Amino acid sequence: MKKTTMNRRTFLKAGVGTAAVLGIGGGVMHHLNMVDAKGRILIIGGGAAGCSFAARLMRRLSNPDITLIDPADRQYYQPGFTFIAAGIFKPDEVWKPMSKCIPSGVKWIKDSVIELDPVKQTARTAGGQMVEYDFLVLTPGLQINWDKVEGISRETLGQGNAHCIYDFMGAQRIWPAIQELVAKGGRGVFTDTYTKHKCGGAPKKICMLTEHLARKEGKRDGVQLDYFCSEKALYDVPLYTPRLLQIYEERNIGLEVRHRVKGIDTLAKKVYLEHYEKVKETQTDAQGNEIEVEREIVTPRVEDYDLLSFVPPQSAPDFVRNAGLSWTEGKLAKDGWAMVDKKTLVHLAYPNIVCLGDVAGIPTSKTSSAIRIQLPIAVDNLLSIMQGKEPTKEYNGYACCPIVTDYGHVLLCEFDYDKNPDITFPFTLQDMSKEQASAWMLKKHFLKPMFFYGMLNGLM
Ligand SMILES: Cc1cc2nc3c(=O)[nH]c(=O)nc-3n(C[C@H](O)[C@H](O)[C@H](O)COP(=O)(O)OP(=O)(O)OC[C@H]3O[C@@H](n4cnc5c(N)ncnc54)[C@H](O)[C@@H]3O)c2cc1C
Repeated sequence: MKKTTMNRRTFLKAGVGTAAVLGIGGGVMHHLNMVDAKGRILIIGGGAAGCSFAARLMRRLSNPDITLIDPADRQYYQPGFTFIAAGIFKPDEVWKPMSKCIPSGVKWIKDSVIELDPVKQTARTAGGQMVEYDFLVLTPGLQINWDKVEGISRETLGQGNAHCIYDFMGAQRIWPAIQELVAKGGRGVFTDTYTKHKCGGAPKKICMLTEHLARKEGKRDGVQLDYFCSEKALYDVPLYTPRLLQIYEERNIGLEVRHRVKGIDTLAKKVYLEHYEKVKETQTDAQGNEIEVEREIVTPRVEDYDLLSFVPPQSAPDFVRNAGLSWTEGKLAKDGWAMVDKKTLVHLAYPNIVCLGDVAGIPTSKTSSAIRIQLPIAVDNLLSIMQGKEPTKEYNGYACCPIVTDYGHVLLCEFDYDKNPDITFPFTLQDMSKEQASAWMLKKHFLKPMFFYGMLNGLM
């Protein structure tokens, strides 16, 4: 397949301009006043959110004192993993050395934070360094809990044809397996997971791309495809759900809801699931009163597969929970997501901490498109806090999930916290409740350079 060739120079000439015209750029950086606020800023995690935050801050502070802790050698454009898995991108197109992504002037500690004390305002690294801060930017992304799926690990991905595209190697291993499934025929089983996870669209996309590949190769009759969804519905944004369901039905992809993956037998090629149903029951309490309680009925189920695509459960990194930075009640508490104000992105217990990206406990999709809109808000709010002012900028929950429906079309789902469509120009001119070729062009050719040359440089 043809390689995407947009490089930095082409992007800067065409990309920022185009993106500035396209509303999709959202937070394209205009000329902003420099701020002379003082303080030691520590950024934990230099991924999509952390590195872009550092770059923006460098453009705003006249005397920046920024330290960034991250152990990674590479900065990955993770949305590209789905395209590697579908043979559209080559693996080397989706990463850059971390050393080239961290803005100059930022002090990089190449290590992992293992302990954080928000009261003493210190972070301790695995290498034993203690770092003090005045202001903290919490952006360590999320933790993929491989051990929560029995019978497979990150290292053994691909064994027994069980794959996961949430990993760089995993995405590479599934592509030949998909081609083999299409060529030889068999059953492809695709699943997601029961915790909040990055890009909820990704598992659905790889399923639809496999289906389209089989059709393009004239092999569709020999391939059975089934999607096991952990939620009670395949998607929950009203404008887009009907078309997505229609696509699954039109293309004869089996769909089952309320199924959690618990384990895999890679020798026998069986996936162990549990189906759950919530029922309301009336019980009598200690005082003899009748009360309504919810009970979960769980039924185990085993499915044979020839190719499996699964997603492990995900949570906030352990050190975030151990530091007492997580929600303690509500839906976001169980997996330790950071307790931040959903509008200002400021931590609710520690006003010198801003938090964005996948680790943030806010009710929106965990995507880099959401981060692009969170960035200017979180940066402005941190600058206000540093100057002793109230954080006033507000995030509306905007996220964009480009659901690739085939090799040539994307259902571009843009929405806010209330799941209302929040469609950006020029897509406002099209019927975005359906998949569009224009959105495919954006996804295939523009979003990656926008990430590497725009977002990571603090330009959008
Ligand atoms: C398969 C797949 C498909 C996706 N598709 C899309 C898509 O189509 N559109 C979209 O917008 N988004 C998509 N995403 C989601 C997007 O990639 C993430 O939402 C985004 O990368 C999150 O950014 P982040 O900075 O919060 O975390 P990350 O980018 O994951 O960065 C976290 C950083 O923190 C570092 N870190 C972790 N722990 C520590 C520690 N203890 N100490 C110091 N540093 C630490 C890590 O090394 C890493 O560099 C996809 C993701 C995947 C996996």
